[in-house]
Amino acid sequence: MYQHQTLNGDTIALPVGKVVCVGRNYAEHAKELNNPIPDQPLLFIKPNTCLQHIAGTLCLHAARGVHHYETELALLVGETITAKTVDPISCIQGVGLALDLTLRELQAELKQKGHPWERAKAFDGACPISGFVEIPKIDLAQLSFSLKLNQQLVQQGDTTQMLFGIKQLLNAISADFTLMPGDIVLTGTPKGVGQLQDQDKIELSLHNSLVAQCQVEYID
Ligand code: ZN
Repeated sequence: MYQHQTLNGDTIALPVGKVVCVGRNYAEHAKELNNPIPDQPLLFIKPNTCLQHIAGTLCLHAARGVHHYETELALLVGETITAKTVDPISCIQGVGLALDLTLRELQAELKQKGHPWERAKAFDGACPISGFVEIPKIDLAQLSFSLKLNQQLVQQGDTTQMLFGIKQLLNAISADFTLMPGDIVLTGTPKGVGQLQDQDKIELSLHNSLVAQCQVEYID
């Protein structure tokens, strides 16, 4: 069973809640998928059954087709955030990195039909995630992160490049979805998304220090 952890692998005493995700929060990524730049945050939710730790082998079900990676800064909510919360950033307890796994072909099909995206983004295991760094140890205002795939740098992001900053995102999310302790917010992906192939090696870094690594394995 997935539990939130620190980078050292210690369990964080919070329940495991929903994952609220933000789409198209980096202009260059919206462009690479030919999507318009939104005038308000585009939100969707992954259930807690999407969560799994990034460590060792990342098993993906071949029957679902090719999975695409999107590397995103993940915020761990420590205290309830509602529309009335004055300082939502103070309610964030930790920061980590997550992969918003996406079945891109299925998503395109669903989008075209005007259907919800859940089958392409909210399947079991669709949110592999690192351990969390505690907030006092890290500054959210200027936080960089990256993904190396087979030792090649393929994604690089920084909180300063976000179309909607973290406070704006938390305000927009909590206007509709109360964030509970143990919920996670994924803040969108920078450009450079792509396919995961069998045996790919993934390395995720936050501020140039490695926070998670694994090897992809497609299984039947
Ligand atoms: Zn995403």
